[in-house]
Amino acid sequence: MGEYRSFRLLKYSPPEKTAANYSESEKNQFQESFKRRARDYRIFKYVVLGLFLVFAFALIKFSRAEEFYLSLTFVCTYVFLYLLFRPLCPACSRNVMAEVKIFCPECGSDRISPGGFMRAKECLSCGEVLRQGKGRSYKVRRCTHCGVFLDAKGL
Ligand SMILES: [Zn+2]
Ligand SMILES: [Zn+2]
Repeated sequence: MGEYRSFRLLKYSPPEKTAANYSESEKNQFQESFKRRARDYRIFKYVVLGLFLVFAFALIKFSRAEEFYLSLTFVCTYVFLYLLFRPLCPACSRNVMAEVKIFCPECGSDRISPGGFMRAKECLSCGEVLRQGKGRSYKVRRCTHCGVFLDAKGL
């Protein structure tokens, strides 16, 4: 476990500056510029849903042989759009939708239980269970890399 942890730490380097290093006016600027990114990301999610419906409908129409190319096109389109619209933190320029790293995306505390196999990380400050993926139970209101507050509504 100890080795595993240090390996993980080697792979991930936290941003040089965190929320505590920024002034109030800088933080306000970050919030302001994140508004547009959050909006773009919300639009992106609807576009993907629309694309998926078109894709599902096309699958009925196309033959088995064409399904492969159709699926490939869908995946490539998705990846391309994701790279274009993924919400990057205005402070540290990292993807805020990444797995929880240092700061709780809900309350901004850095007291996070490590979690493990089949066990989600948990914030020891606000009690939020930080389950990832499809059943994500939390909203991203802060950057998990630098802890800067981004959006009250959350993503
Ligand atoms: Zn950040
Ligand atoms: Zn928390």
